[in-house]
Formats: sequence, structure tokens, C-alpha cells
Amino acid sequence: MDLNRHEFELDDLIERIKDNDNRLVALQVPEGLKMQALEMMDAIEEDTSARIILAADPCYGACDLVHDKMQRMGVELVAHMGHSQMNIDSGMPTEFINVTYDGDPAIDPVLPILSAHREIAQKRLFASLDESEMSEEEAQERFMDAVGRVSPLKGAKLGLVGSIQHLHLIFDYKERLESAGFEVEVPVGGARLSFPGQVLGCNYSGDSDDIGHYLFLGSGDFHPIGLVLHTGKPLAMLDPYTGGAEEMSFQRIEGILRQRFGLIMACDQAKTFGILIGEKPGQMRRNLALRMKRKLEKHGKKGYLLALEHVGPELIDFYPVDAFVNTACPRIAIDDSVRYAKPLLTPFELEVVLGDKKWETGYKFDEIP
Ligand code: SF4
Repeated sequence: MDLNRHEFELDDLIERIKDNDNRLVALQVPEGLKMQALEMMDAIEEDTSARIILAADPCYGACDLVHDKMQRMGVELVAHMGHSQMNIDSGMPTEFINVTYDGDPAIDPVLPILSAHREIAQKRLFASLDESEMSEEEAQERFMDAVGRVSPLKGAKLGLVGSIQHLHLIFDYKERLESAGFEVEVPVGGARLSFPGQVLGCNYSGDSDDIGHYLFLGSGDFHPIGLVLHTGKPLAMLDPYTGGAEEMSFQRIEGILRQRFGLIMACDQAKTFGILIGEKPGQMRRNLALRMKRKLEKHGKKGYLLALEHVGPELIDFYPVDAFVNTACPRIAIDDSVRYAKPLLTPFELEVVLGDKKWETGYKFDEIP
């Protein structure tokens, strides 16, 4: 990855600091860009009379905005880099700084994958499933089926999405793909998302029945895994850093679904649960946690509410409970569960354990709206 091809738009921040005569500013930078943080601090301090404090704790999203702790330190403004505004209020004035990457790889390598996925989508267009006629075994199989669990589609369009540093290219790519013969939709999601085509690891709300398959413009498999878990639709990836194209394999997704199935089954006899509440402003789902506690009580089980800023095995494994339910970042349960000694479930998975949700509805991704 060539970091020098990232563009950091610091001008608006510098103007705002000057206009407000801010003296102490906190800079929050995502993990992948921390190597350049000191350079950015120099650039801001050279152009303003402010002193910059790097919020050096890990930061993986705009859900994790610097909040009252920095206010107590005297920080007047937060400069949050590389993520976009969410539907949350951290209680601190915050300037979001765009980071863009100028790599725009050719679409040729991804076209054969997209054609194959379009065929899958077209075949599924009129397929329907009658849940009432399913045996328990068929219902459990459907739960673990990466693509067979989606409701009938109304279209087979290509949904074009990306991670935030590539979204400035999204409409240019839409045109290129349309020229290559694809019917393309750039999905527009809910209030947690700021831009057309944007996806987060916890939010794919732009998905619609008209979209039959996806192209993700970005690197890594974090967003692609969530998108396929959430939608059950085939997904191709085009990496602007390398120009490489590949698909998210159904085997990979089915492996994750099998693991989730195993964890649900392992909780069959569980009586006591720790219910994790995230303290980060954009991860805090207190009402959901309280609802899970009430549900457990209704089923004669015990739930203990545990609030944490960071969630990790060393912070929870020792509690004498049978399992945990996570209401903080949904990806902690999905991506990290092997690190925990006890089953770590999502709220939907707990509802399956309790029999309040059925296998035949298929796997439901834990989305933060
Ligand atoms: S996936 Fe997790 S870390 Fe990323 S924005 Fe959502 S809650 Fe935050």
C-alpha cells in the first residue's frame, strides 16, 4: 500500500481552528494511518497556534469518537480522520477529515467474476422458499447456507459499494461498469452512513431487493464478510491498492455460519449470561442490552449487564457465567469469537437459543441502524 497516495484534507480543519482560536485539539486517526499521525500533528501545529494531542488509543470507526475524557483534559475540538459522521453525538465539537486514495484500477480483472455472479442472481430472481414446509433439519441447513437464505429478489442489479477512502470514485466506476453491460445501483443507506455506496462493518442498510450481487471497491475482507453475511448475495472485490480482483467465497461465509451454529448449540443448556454494553458513543445499545436481560429472565435464565469501553477476552473470560451476549460492536462476536473461552453470541443468536427466533428465517446479521 502506497500511503503517499492518500490525500488528507486538512484545510477545513486548519480554518476552523483559526476561526475559533482553538488552543488544544485532539487528533483521532484510524489504525492504518497512525504511522503518519506525527506528520499531520506537525502540519497542523505549523499552520495554527493550537497544540495537538494524538488520541492514541485504538480507533476503528466513527462509533469511537473521542468524548468526555478529552474534554476533562481541556480539549476544545476533536479532529477525526478517515471516517464519516454517524447519527451520534459524542458531546464534543468534531471536525471529520476526509481521506481519499487516488488509485483507480482497471475493471477488466473483475468482469468475469461479475458475469458469473449476475447469472447466480438471475437464477435466484424468481426462486421462492416455503418456510412452512421445512423440516427442522432443512431449516438448520438453511441457517448455514450462505446464499440460499435470502428472500426472493426483485432484480439482479449490480450493487456498487466501497470503503470510505474510495467513494469519490464510485460514480466513475458506475459508468465504467455500465459501459461493460451491467445494470448498476449505488445503494444509499440510513442515517449511520454519510455517502452513496458507503458500507460499514456494522451497517449495510443500502441493500435492496433490486440488487442481486455486489462489487466492493476496497481492500481487506472485513466489509465483504459483513455484506455477504447480511445479504446472502454474491460479492466481488476490486482492490484499489493492488488492482487485484477476487470474490468472497461462499465456503468462507458458510464456515462462519457453521461456527455461529456451533456456538448457538453450545448455549443450549446455558443458564447465566454476561450481557456486554459498549461504552463507545456509536456502539452503546443499552436498550437492546436491557431487552436481552428481560428475555433471559422470561426464559428463567440470568443476565448480568457488563459495560466496557474495550471488549477483550482478558476483561471478561473470568466471570462465572456460561456465555456472553455482545451488544457493542457486532463484529466482536463474529470476527473474534475464537479468542474467547466461552461462547460469545450476538443478540439475534441469543434469541435463536431461547427459541424466540427460528432457524428457517436464515442467519440475521447484527446491524446497528
Ligand atoms: S463495525 Fe464496529 S468498529 Fe466499525 S463502525 Fe461499526 S461498531 Fe464501529
